[in-house]
Amino acid sequence: MNKSKKKVSMPELAPELRIQNFKEVCTGYTQEMAVEEASRCLDCKNPKCVQGCPVNVKIADFIRAIREGDLQEAYDLIQETNAFPSVCGRVCPQESQCEAKCVLGIKGEPVAIGRLERFVGDWFLEQGKAQEERKESNGIKVAVIGSGPVGLGCASDLSKLGYEVTIFEVLHAAGGVLTYGIPSFRLPKEIVKREIEALKQNGVQFSFNTLIGRTITIEQLWEQGYQAIFIGSGAGLPKFMNIKGENCNGVFSANEILTRVNLMKAVDQRYDTPIADFKKVMVVGGGNVAMDAARVMRRMGAEVHIVYRRSIEEMPARWEEIEHAKEEGIVFDLLRNPVEIIPDENYRVSKVVLEIMKLGEPDEKGRRSPMPSSELITEDFDCAIIAVGTTPNPLIRQTTDGLETTAWGGIIVNEETMETSIPHIYAGGDAVSGAATVISALGAGKKAAKAIHESLQK
Ligand SMILES: Cc1cc2nc3c(=O)[nH]c(=O)nc-3n(C[C@H](O)[C@H](O)[C@H](O)COP(=O)(O)OP(=O)(O)OC[C@H]3O[C@@H](n4cnc5c(N)ncnc54)[C@H](O)[C@@H]3O)c2cc1C
Repeated sequence: MNKSKKKVSMPELAPELRIQNFKEVCTGYTQEMAVEEASRCLDCKNPKCVQGCPVNVKIADFIRAIREGDLQEAYDLIQETNAFPSVCGRVCPQESQCEAKCVLGIKGEPVAIGRLERFVGDWFLEQGKAQEERKESNGIKVAVIGSGPVGLGCASDLSKLGYEVTIFEVLHAAGGVLTYGIPSFRLPKEIVKREIEALKQNGVQFSFNTLIGRTITIEQLWEQGYQAIFIGSGAGLPKFMNIKGENCNGVFSANEILTRVNLMKAVDQRYDTPIADFKKVMVVGGGNVAMDAARVMRRMGAEVHIVYRRSIEEMPARWEEIEHAKEEGIVFDLLRNPVEIIPDENYRVSKVVLEIMKLGEPDEKGRRSPMPSSELITEDFDCAIIAVGTTPNPLIRQTTDGLETTAWGGIIVNEETMETSIPHIYAGGDAVSGAATVISALGAGKKAAKAIHESLQK
């Protein structure tokens, strides 16, 4: 038993090196480190960590298997509820989920559950082993719209049960936010590719460059013989601040910048994706998306400022991302809110007027609210990236009669089955919940796959 109050630390690339490339920052545990960390687990009779996980991974059991050196068993236990441990081990907000419930966290640091999950997932991928055998085809066609985690999770379970699953994806590559949003220094694209490759080997078909609602409609999918449809189209429509000057050149949504760099390889000289050589960039927002955009622009050579209207304590981003951003020299301009973007004579971003904010009373979520002070300052910037949230794209609801949605555009589902207001059409992930997490999307995909199977077997 390892009685240390601290986690076994994770090796990381030094900040001065990592801002020069897009290599993964945290390089992962060795087996020796994993066993040492697993030996900190108290193996509680009633493990609270499992309750903290949105998909109730059998955490204590897989950690025990690591301790005993049975990595295949550890992998199989995780796979029962989470199809992508290498991904979730890297990007899940464990500090507010499973690790927040670990009893070791009361007097020291909790067990590093995420790092251990990542270790097991990576071990499996390195073995090059095949995923669980697919049952013989039952000939029943199911369409999945969107290849983000919710679509991949749903397709994975259905294909294992023998369904003929086709994923329709508007982009030319699969993975949703895992591919176009989260940068490779947090989630190497090789990991996502290998997970997708495993799905292909299990018979899942992909139809890329296919925008459901334009290229073909849901109505036409029925005509093509699909017997159930799952909508996992995410929440990729960026919100803007609606301030003066926000339409000038050099203003981007975070998703656009991230897509240009991650998917369209703006960082690679062999690609001609345009991204100007910005000198001083403002990123507005305090979530993971803002941190990702800021750290990407730092690697593109810019001086980067995060402008956030509350203090650092209220930032929704993962603490680890905030720490990494600080180490990389990103400046945090806190209690500031942009009220105007001033262009130069060529209508390019030149200055930003910021209002100084104060903290007021806590809001309904317990976060102190930002209060304007009327005091204004003006700062020079040549680029502004807006990361203040996203909503579901309206196209599918606009082109599908009878599909009920909330006022903000989330698809309404029966929470038990994920079925929408239209029989045999299911939905999940960010398209239903609004911007959330990878693990909640995977959980929703799994739930929907089970309900689709039960309904089609009747
Ligand atoms: C930059 C960024 C960083 C993040 N970091 C984290 C993190 O660290 N940890 C975490 O847990 N979560 C994080 N999230 C949130 C997480 O990635 C999402 O909650 C998750 O990806 C939602 O999965 P999804 O499958 O519902 O949607 P998405 O991943 O958005 O996938 C939806 C897919 O549907 C496709 N699509 C949309 N409309 C259509 C259509 N009409 N026809 C065909 N295809 C369509 C899209 O192109 C996309 O590929 C982050 C999000 C962003 C943007």
